[in-house]
Amino acid sequence: MELKICHLYPDALNLYGDQGNIICIRRRLTARGIEAAVTGVRVGEKCDLTQFDMFFIGGGQDFEQEVLLSDLAAGRAADIRAAVEDGKTFLTICGGYQMMGSHYLTHDGVRCDFIGAMDLYTEGRSERMIGNMLFRCTGENSGSLVVGFENHSGRTYLGPGCTPLGTVICGRGNNGEDGTEGARYKNAFGSYSHGPILPKNPAFADFLLKTALERRYGSVSLEPLDDKYELAAHEYMLGRLAQ
Ligand code: GLN
Repeated sequence: MELKICHLYPDALNLYGDQGNIICIRRRLTARGIEAAVTGVRVGEKCDLTQFDMFFIGGGQDFEQEVLLSDLAAGRAADIRAAVEDGKTFLTICGGYQMMGSHYLTHDGVRCDFIGAMDLYTEGRSERMIGNMLFRCTGENSGSLVVGFENHSGRTYLGPGCTPLGTVICGRGNNGEDGTEGARYKNAFGSYSHGPILPKNPAFADFLLKTALERRYGSVSLEPLDDKYELAAHEYMLGRLAQ
């Protein structure tokens, strides 16, 4: 088996170790004998997105998101929407997650028209939401606990066309108001959790990989890995957040 993975905008969107998600995806696949071919696609680079099984978009500040608008408008947004509709797996974090929605009104009044692949939008406020976070994924999203770190001024609001990824236990999540964190539409996932999210949340990482593998190969069972260090990091953060 193999997965073809597209890392979108690795040059522009990479906050708080988000690129570690790519290292984690590659390691969890190759440790099981599954090939992982990762292609970085940069701003302005032409690329046929239909060849990929899975996509990763990291976080970025308002400035980087504004810089990417012309690339999105030049056809990339339509390609991403088509890949989402086709059931491809997306992991999108913070700024990348906000970009999957329809628009972002920044705290200083700039309107960014985004991809519109997920039924959500974001509004910035002057107060940032910063700190470690803990949430529980909903049952259909693995049911696992996820530890992470958030830092955003944007408040994201979900429409009826997508469902929350999980429920906030510690921290602010989507908007600090409705207790939701992240979103899912088909196999496109968004979360505010940097850190990076996957290495210290192996149950969620495998859940995500399974969606991509099963779309391509049908039912797949992933053999367990020795997650001693990953689980130690997970448990340590759970302990800190419980205090
Ligand atoms: N620019 C966005 C905000 O501040 C996203 C920041 C991020 O990706 N950490 O809301």
